[in-house]
Amino acid sequence: MDVLATVRASGTIWITGMERADIQKGRIHMAQYPQWSYSQSRANMFDECLRKYYYHYYGAHNGWKTESADEMQVRLYRLKQLSNLYLVFGDLAHRMCESAVRSRGDGKPKPREAFLEQTMRDLLNQAYKESMDPEQWRLNPKNRTMLSEIYYGDDTLSDRVATIKERAGACTRNLYQTLTWEDLSRASTSILEIEKWDTMLLHDTRVYVKMDLLYRRRNGNIVIVDWKTGKEDDFSDQLMLYAAYVREHYRVPLEQIEIRVEYLLTGKHKEFIATEEDIRKVEENVGRYIEEMRSCVADEYYNRPKDMSYFTPMPSHRACRDCNFREVCSERIV
Ligand code: SF4
Repeated sequence: MDVLATVRASGTIWITGMERADIQKGRIHMAQYPQWSYSQSRANMFDECLRKYYYHYYGAHNGWKTESADEMQVRLYRLKQLSNLYLVFGDLAHRMCESAVRSRGDGKPKPREAFLEQTMRDLLNQAYKESMDPEQWRLNPKNRTMLSEIYYGDDTLSDRVATIKERAGACTRNLYQTLTWEDLSRASTSILEIEKWDTMLLHDTRVYVKMDLLYRRRNGNIVIVDWKTGKEDDFSDQLMLYAAYVREHYRVPLEQIEIRVEYLLTGKHKEFIATEEDIRKVEENVGRYIEEMRSCVADEYYNRPKDMSYFTPMPSHRACRDCNFREVCSERIV
């Protein structure tokens, strides 16, 4: 089993005819500014702190071009790549689920719980060890791991390590007890998507979607599965967007789309069927975000941002505590 199997993005780059003509005539350089798109994580950061949003989505752009980018771009790009223990763990747990589901789809025996738990622990240790070598990370920040807890010397490190170890055990124990696993064990289910990137168009904007798992039941219903490795929370707008995507992409009515959140820490799950009203509300909400985000750009065509001073820092203990950009932000709350 390859727990480290890479899931590649399959999103398409959309270029209009007019843009293509401009590129051919050398009028624009497509890489000068980042491409405009919407995602739930972008909206979350926009709400959390505008300055952080600027650093992440604009300031860091092109910072990988160390020959031509300025010092700040390179620094922001590097900081953008920082991870943390919860993120690394969440990613590994999702890969564990993906790997188990793929094994089942390929007709192979399911990986043993002890093996999954040990593999997760080994990979967490590897992330920890890599983080002890800042020089290597500086040279290759995209492909090396640097935990922000280590980079910034946070005193939360040992507590987090203990929490993550507990969670790794609980998640591997509960995976095979979930309703989803029980469902997949029936011969009549067919897997449609696993961790696959796609886009849908909303308010003239590309919206990224990536469901953890999508499968079809014998009765024709489609189930959207969202693995959660943290505490139980409410259904997010993200899941409603997934339902809108599935309806459009697979041409099924909302009544036949089941949204299920599997809480791997507790082994519990919640299920939901989105209504027309839910979808309307979420699309309106996304529309408001898009409008506000677009008000932060000086030029919508190129997605050129306004001056950094327009992106007001919004310091708070919660936002600054884990912010990757603490090093460059004088407004941070410590
Ligand atoms: S350190 Fe705080 S104020 Fe500064 S960018 Fe990060 S979240 Fe915003």
